[in-house]
Amino acid sequence: MPAPSLLARLATVLGCLLLGSLACLPATAGDLTKADIERRFQRPLHVGEKLREVAAWPLTSELKPDAGPVGYVFESIDLAPIPGFEGTPMNLLVAIDSEGKFLDVEVLRQHEPVFLGGLGPLPLQEFVKQYQGKSLKQEITVSSAYGNTRSGAGGNRVVLDGVTKATASVRIVNQSVLAAALAVARSRLGFADAGDGAPPAVVKPLPFERMDLATLLQRGYVQRIAFSNAEIEKLFAGTEGAGTDERASSHPDETYVEVFVAYLNAPTIGRNLLGDANWEKFRTYMLDDRPAFWVATRGRYALVDDNFVPGTPPPRLALAQSELPVELRDANRDYARLPGFGEFSAALILTAQAHAGLDPGRPMNFQFTVSRARGFILPVVTQKQVSLRYVPSTGLFDYPPKPLPEWLQAWQGRLPDLLIIGLALALLGGVLLRPRAVSIHPQILFRFRLGFLAFTLLFIGWYAQGQLSIVQITGAIKSLVAGGGLKSFLYDPVSLLLIAFTLISLAVWGRGPFCGWLCPFGALQEFVGLAARALRLPQWRMPPRLALLLSRGRYALLALLVGSAAFAPAAAEKLVEVEPFKTAITVGFQRELPFLLWAVGLLLAGAFVYKFFCRFVCPLGAALTLGGRLRRWNWLPRIEACGQPCRKCEIACQYDAIRADGAIDYDECHQCLDCVGLYHDERRCGPQLFYARKGRTIPIRPLNSSRP
Ligand code: SF4
Ligand code: SF4
Repeated sequence: MPAPSLLARLATVLGCLLLGSLACLPATAGDLTKADIERRFQRPLHVGEKLREVAAWPLTSELKPDAGPVGYVFESIDLAPIPGFEGTPMNLLVAIDSEGKFLDVEVLRQHEPVFLGGLGPLPLQEFVKQYQGKSLKQEITVSSAYGNTRSGAGGNRVVLDGVTKATASVRIVNQSVLAAALAVARSRLGFADAGDGAPPAVVKPLPFERMDLATLLQRGYVQRIAFSNAEIEKLFAGTEGAGTDERASSHPDETYVEVFVAYLNAPTIGRNLLGDANWEKFRTYMLDDRPAFWVATRGRYALVDDNFVPGTPPPRLALAQSELPVELRDANRDYARLPGFGEFSAALILTAQAHAGLDPGRPMNFQFTVSRARGFILPVVTQKQVSLRYVPSTGLFDYPPKPLPEWLQAWQGRLPDLLIIGLALALLGGVLLRPRAVSIHPQILFRFRLGFLAFTLLFIGWYAQGQLSIVQITGAIKSLVAGGGLKSFLYDPVSLLLIAFTLISLAVWGRGPFCGWLCPFGALQEFVGLAARALRLPQWRMPPRLALLLSRGRYALLALLVGSAAFAPAAAEKLVEVEPFKTAITVGFQRELPFLLWAVGLLLAGAFVYKFFCRFVCPLGAALTLGGRLRRWNWLPRIEACGQPCRKCEIACQYDAIRADGAIDYDECHQCLDCVGLYHDERRCGPQLFYARKGRTIPIRPLNSSRP
């Protein structure tokens, strides 16, 4: 197939970005061949051909030659290509046995920034080892240093140890493993589609009440339906089976079949029906909590005939719930006939698989097949169905709370952090909307700013791992280009909260609120700059033309990163390392030497040229600057005398964001509020002093005259 033209790919990228389409480009495909799988799974196992219905290799065993597949091996990318944090789906090799138990999980390919560099691949390899021996029938979730700890394990719940600083990534791994394994289990192991994911009803622990069959029937605990000969005859009207049953014509009102159904697992039903001794036997037999039903027929028709093989599904009966068939199998229990309840033509205890998705609390349909034959040699057989709609008594059941989706668990675990950061954002928003009170006293502004930046660095950055990064932009592009959507953002609630605030603040204030207050690496640079001034290191202010020229480099870098994310994703993975955020914030300077040298070098440059990285290198800052052009208001007040003759603010602005003519360059402004305090303080603002002495009013420059 010819490679798509550059123009076509560009159109696709733009289309995806504009429309947010989830299905723009082809899905990803697996990496391994049958030979690769055979190398991993050797004798006595044998690897079959990759299946057509579901992308999995069946495993058979020499030790169980007649057992059919004893397991399945598959690549997660074939079945659940969920984009990772960096935008590209990971690929995990998963093996499950025929019961849905995990045999092995191996990381084949991953692009998570924190596991590529930073922590390295080992913690992820250790994480996936935890799946071994766990079962798909369990609720498998991931613990996090921020909440949802292992203490949440119990019952059917298994909590895997998460990886600190990589919680979002390992949650995506868990989703990929489970979604892929469930796809195979549903296709090959008869696992039910859980639909809306709600767990089935469980039997309420009610006090036992002794009841006879009549009471059980009256309460609806045992349900019954009967058909007369005439009703069955009517069913066959117009078919080859019509008129073949002589007794139906001679005794039309006689009962043809009476069907009884009861859900045995509820003690109120099971113990009353089976009797105390058999109930104990039944409980021992049913330790795995499979749903079990007592099904009996009375009359001329029998649920099973003499050819029925005990322990197999009864061929005349089918069970369906919400139109999904559920296989019932004879439990081969000799106490199914229930002495004392009259003569049955047949009575069986039937069980469904524990993971078949049957909900005993919801109505279900038991369908019985009735056959008639015309002729003795090569008879023509006609079949019709009669049904019993079994509506369980709601008073017997409780519904356990529905498990939260993985991404919502991530939000739940981070609620305290989100609350703290939310309060901080509200405080910052309030200060930026009404900056006078905080900024007019230089000492108060200094302390407030220092305190907030310390919170940003220590809490948002190093503790809550909320450093926004260019990886989120390149990851979003990659994911959209690959048709993967942006769901991975949901797994990182702290970043999502900061992204939401930043997007709003871009339209209100420009890039300043993020770059000046919320960027942990930006805060670290501020502290380095502060320390450098305290140590009286020389501070170099670049000539404006040179600064302007150098700052354009940020845009070139941004274009290179965005372009490579769309057209050369592998290169983008390396290029994003221009950002020292992962080294300095995500892993707290615990990285290989070249990355350390780069991060420390940038901080040292910032010791001599204030916020060197922000102003001349940062591609995220460039993206935010472009986004900041959406800003609707010029917040920083200016007066006629700004720039001419007074240049106090221009000199005070450490970001060189005030031009010689007094206008604010919002592209460079970090909203530090220094000039705001200066403007409002008539003891510090030169023109105010001048006009005040002359008893005149200062001409205020209209807000929109500040150069956007
Ligand atoms: S320019 Fe970059 S490093 Fe600086 S504050 Fe903004 S995002 Fe952070
Ligand atoms: S001093 Fe400079 S960076 Fe600070 S708010 Fe004023 S213009 Fe912006």
